[in-house]
Amino acid sequence: MSIKYSNKINKIRTFALSLVFIGILVMYIGIFFKGSTILMSLAMIIGLLCIIGSTFVYFWIGMLSTKTIQVICPNCQKPTKILGRVDACMNCSEPLTLDKSLEGKEFDERYNKKANQKKG
Ligand SMILES: [Zn+2]
Repeated sequence: MSIKYSNKINKIRTFALSLVFIGILVMYIGIFFKGSTILMSLAMIIGLLCIIGSTFVYFWIGMLSTKTIQVICPNCQKPTKILGRVDACMNCSEPLTLDKSLEGKEFDERYNKKANQKKG
């Protein structure tokens, strides 16, 4: 496989982590605006919001984790979590599916959206 897919939970976790770093960075930049109270407090507020946002994302990951199904990856033999009908292995990015009808078919993120449409 030339194209590597990343696991959804891992993706969201990376996003949450980067939010923390952005928040810290923005707050750090704020220190350079010592001359302007407005700019400095603005940077502090934005930085704080990013960190609060990441807390919510981490909370969301916790919620999503309850919906994941733990399986042993057939490719690397390591336990991984699947979210939705198709997801990639957390360790080797091997595309995995829970739906027998999709087995052997090409990995497509759209399968998840189709599943959501049926429910809603
Ligand atoms: Zn694997």
